[in-house]
Amino acid sequence: MDQFVVGTFFVSLLSFVLLHILRRDRVNNKRSMHKGYPLNGAKRSTDGECKSDTSSGTDVIIVGAGVAGSVLAHTLGKDGRRVHVLERDLTEPDRIVGELLQPGGYLKLIELGLEDCVEQIDAQRVQGYALFKDGKNTTLPYPLEKFHADVAGRSFHNGRFIQKIREKAAALPNVRMEQGTVTSLLVDNGTVKGVRYKTKDGQEHKAYAPLTIVCDGCFSNLRRSLCHPKVEVPSCFVGLILENCQLPFANHDGPLLEELQVAPQIPPELYDAFISAINRVNIRTMPYRSMPADPLPTLGALLLGDAFNMRHPLTGGGMTVALSDIVVLRDLLKPLRDLNNAASLCKYLESFYTQGKCFLLAGFL
Ligand SMILES: Cc1cc2nc3c(=O)[nH]c(=O)nc-3n(C[C@H](O)[C@H](O)[C@H](O)COP(=O)(O)OP(=O)(O)OC[C@H]3O[C@@H](n4cnc5c(N)ncnc54)[C@H](O)[C@@H]3O)c2cc1C
Repeated sequence: MDQFVVGTFFVSLLSFVLLHILRRDRVNNKRSMHKGYPLNGAKRSTDGECKSDTSSGTDVIIVGAGVAGSVLAHTLGKDGRRVHVLERDLTEPDRIVGELLQPGGYLKLIELGLEDCVEQIDAQRVQGYALFKDGKNTTLPYPLEKFHADVAGRSFHNGRFIQKIREKAAALPNVRMEQGTVTSLLVDNGTVKGVRYKTKDGQEHKAYAPLTIVCDGCFSNLRRSLCHPKVEVPSCFVGLILENCQLPFANHDGPLLEELQVAPQIPPELYDAFISAINRVNIRTMPYRSMPADPLPTLGALLLGDAFNMRHPLTGGGMTVALSDIVVLRDLLKPLRDLNNAASLCKYLESFYTQGKCFLLAGFL
């Protein structure tokens, strides 16, 4: 009997030691596969979902709070992610870009629950384009017959629109919006682990998260390590604000002017306001940039918005493409509760780059 007890004791001890060795090897294997991601931070919650619990307490860092970054922050924040947004300048932007949101973009705003961001910013409904050439004109309506009456394009001051989305994102308790300029990505063994950034007082900081999404726009400094940037600057956009004039076609975008002599092509209804504006206000210019998407899939990081790809501004499609990509990304990431699982994350993100391509073309409407 004693021999039986001693035998059972040694068998149990041996099994325990074997089990311990096996378990340790499995954990070590996982760690070496996903170097850079602290897997020990993952906790299983009571509802069975795996929640990430990195030491930084952040799931996603977003660089830049333009249209792409601020919409993304709101979207991921609403999904329960802990988001840290770093934006160089949180005051209202004042640029001549992104004044027309196509109807397709408005539909994406609805899908993302952000349609109220075009309210109370003096946005105008846009039903189509007005075209002017050689004294003749015509209108080109959007084919919106099958949609709800509210669906149309929206025209607005881009800065007001961005500020509205920023406010909505920052109101979520798990979204932290901070003013700071990101100077570099923190890379360890080919994996992006976070960013280095400077605050206004010149202090340098580091922020860590399992996923960093770079949305730093058309002049992106950070895209170099995440894609092959082939940026072309074929020409410039010139803009000025006309006041106190009657539009020849209300609720239509345009006119589109192609030739160098602008004044003779201005529709008569706008002529006086145009001459008054060029004598009174600064004419502003903005270079066109075009860049096809050519990503270098990188562990722990992703590009979005103009940092990822750009097209001719006359398509008026840049914001729509960014919003479409955010919908794709949101749906892709939804089942992946633990972003610390680097291998799964990489698989999901690679699929984003292939799925996103369809939307580059679909962005117009
Ligand atoms: C002349 C022109 C006209 C256009 N017209 C239209 C139009 O009518 N309709 C349309 O849909 N699209 C239009 N576009 C395209 C549209 O403006 C862009 O697609 C859209 O603004 C891209 O948004 P984004 O968030 O990627 O970039 P941005 O809006 O440029 O935002 C980038 C943000 O990142 C911040 N940032 C940059 N670097 C750093 C850093 N290192 N650290 C922290 N923050 C940083 C910037 O301050 C900025 O807030 C136009 C573009 C141009 C050039």
